[in-house]
Amino acid sequence: MIHLTDIKKTYQTGDTVYTALDIPLFHCEQGELLAIIGESGSGKTTLLRILGLLDHCDSGSYQLKDQLTERFTYKQEAQIRNQMIGFVLQHFGLITDYTVKENILLPTTYLPRKIRKEKAAQLATLATDLQIDNQLKKYPNQLSRGQQQRVAIARALINDPDILLADEPTGNLDSHNSQLVLDILRREHQKGKTVIIVTHEQAIADACDRQVVMKDGKLEERSVRVDSV
Ligand code: ADP
Ligand code: MG
Repeated sequence: MIHLTDIKKTYQTGDTVYTALDIPLFHCEQGELLAIIGESGSGKTTLLRILGLLDHCDSGSYQLKDQLTERFTYKQEAQIRNQMIGFVLQHFGLITDYTVKENILLPTTYLPRKIRKEKAAQLATLATDLQIDNQLKKYPNQLSRGQQQRVAIARALINDPDILLADEPTGNLDSHNSQLVLDILRREHQKGKTVIIVTHEQAIADACDRQVVMKDGKLEERSVRVDSV
């Protein structure tokens, strides 16, 4: 599904070049539930943005579903982001002057009219599933943070992507809502999606099937699982 070789990403500030990512090899199978765990500043978001085609690496190759992503045109990238990848972010990323319903349907905007109608019809089921069916006409600032994150998840799911990329999805939530979000992500994994969760919390990582640790831009497989209590 996802295969990285010799990925490097640097940031330059003035004369200093900072290596944010240095990954000789990384692989994620289709249908995996994978945690990338690491401290703040270790490069997790940088990696997730590259995986989600929101950013590019400086060198190395990224194969997504056996396709070399560096060959994608800008338009192909946008299409894949829209249809194959769903993003869930720590700060939800909802548009404040759109209603919940408009936010969720946003990724369907450029789809053919017929499909757009189908998606609008599926919205009710998705909203019920995520327990936000009573919130559709409200605006994000009228919702609790837990509800806002579930709206963001609905938006990530509306185009039925193969891959869900979640960047600290529970970072802004209390433990009850964190658990809800985790349960939803695990359920999507059970339905067959590839789910990658970036986190600095061990308990979240322990809820995943595989963990890789990110440290100073490098990845290591964590072979011994620390079981959460
Ligand atoms: P994490 O998500 O693990 O907290 P990030 O991927 O956001 O880490 O950042 C990794 C490192 O790269 C940090 O030291 C950060 O300061 C640096 N960095 C991230 N984005 C930029 C940028 N746009 N310009 C310069 N440095 C950046
Ligand atoms: Mg981050």
